[in-house]
Amino acid sequence: MNSPTSPFPIPAQAAVAESFPALSATDPQLASLLVQEESRQRLKVRLIASENYASGAVREACSSVITNQYSEGYPGSRYYEGQQIVDQVERLAIARAKALFGADHVNVQPHSGSPANLSVYLAFLKPGDTVLAMQLAHGGHLTHGSKASITGKYWNVIHYGLDAQSKLIDYATIRELALQHKPKMIIAGHSAYPRQIDFAAFRAIADEVGAILMVDMAHFAGLVAGGAHPSPVPYADVVTTTTHKSLRGPRGAIVMCRAEHAAKIDKAIFPGLQGGPHNAITAAIAVTLQEALRPEFATYAGQCVANARALAHGLLEHGFDLVTGGTDNHLVLVDLRRKGIAGKPLAAALDRAGLVTNYNAVPWDEQPPQNPSGLRLGSPSMTTRGFREAEFRRIADWIARIVDSGLNGKVIEEIAEETHQLCACFPMP
Ligand SMILES: *Cc1c(COP(=O)(O)O)cnc(C)c1O
Repeated sequence: MNSPTSPFPIPAQAAVAESFPALSATDPQLASLLVQEESRQRLKVRLIASENYASGAVREACSSVITNQYSEGYPGSRYYEGQQIVDQVERLAIARAKALFGADHVNVQPHSGSPANLSVYLAFLKPGDTVLAMQLAHGGHLTHGSKASITGKYWNVIHYGLDAQSKLIDYATIRELALQHKPKMIIAGHSAYPRQIDFAAFRAIADEVGAILMVDMAHFAGLVAGGAHPSPVPYADVVTTTTHKSLRGPRGAIVMCRAEHAAKIDKAIFPGLQGGPHNAITAAIAVTLQEALRPEFATYAGQCVANARALAHGLLEHGFDLVTGGTDNHLVLVDLRRKGIAGKPLAAALDRAGLVTNYNAVPWDEQPPQNPSGLRLGSPSMTTRGFREAEFRRIADWIARIVDSGLNGKVIEEIAEETHQLCACFPMP
């Protein structure tokens, strides 16, 4: 029996006890919810571009006893005794990040992507200083100076966007804006741009105006790690990334920078913004980076791009408009305006059909962000489960059937059955 709020099977008590022996004894209600979430992740085709499935090894590290410990400071200079082991763990994570990305200096302590980005503002800027960054509505992130974010309240953020025709990043206009506003920092990076970034072009603009270049590779760090996207590290003064998106780790973040900026970045993160690091996450980041250093991860990253392309081709064949006409990374941004359907009702219908996506603004969207005209789709999660081009073509077919049926309930039910069956063939980690 399903409860009215939970469309996922309520697990038997014995199954909950097997998955969560301690938790099911003290808090069976919560343990049951976690088992239901496990079912959700197993039974659905997850296409949120910023999500993934962390490995069992990563999840073991996340829940390890190292979480019991406080470690304010950095390896070799802590404010607490008892750091014999955790210093080694943090050093391991740092060394692996250096090996993977080739950065001079690495800090693995930021609690997530937003604080990692804020630490860079704190390291290089005074309140009120000028920053040039991509606007949210064209694919930037909240922390790139949105008025809703602290970064837009405390700093003077000038926004660049895309070319109106090609919907590609407009480097000529970025250069003009940089010459006009003389930003102290320029940010490259995005949450919804389906193409690669020309980091050399950004570097040239930053050099021309004497700005710090920050690259936020939160979304595509896994592709960089696997060699499926150019690396920003040789070009940027500082690179930030989350660890839980295409990089496939725990929820956390890393800041990397040139040697000359190391002290500033470290001070901004601790004690500037945070107290103690989340040591279990640090351990899990070390595991993630070791996984990403293996040759299989390069295969994974390449397959993420191939799968996103297969999805894009399928959607184009079904008459969908895609922002920039396709993709060369892990995500596809569908412009639904010509299909006469809004993003939000479509995303809700797709979820009922077992396809988890998110509605998203498209560049120059006339609709409000609460009900925009686009749909964002990503390949990282299902590529982890082993989907290849053929499965991503089926996803395009399903989306087209649902849209063309006018979100017909019977069609949605049929497809829910099909997505369920497909998921059963691709076990989750
Ligand atoms: C996801 C994301 C972040 C923020 O990460 P959180 O961990 O959600 O705080 C920052 N920048 C970009 C470009 C992102 O996509």
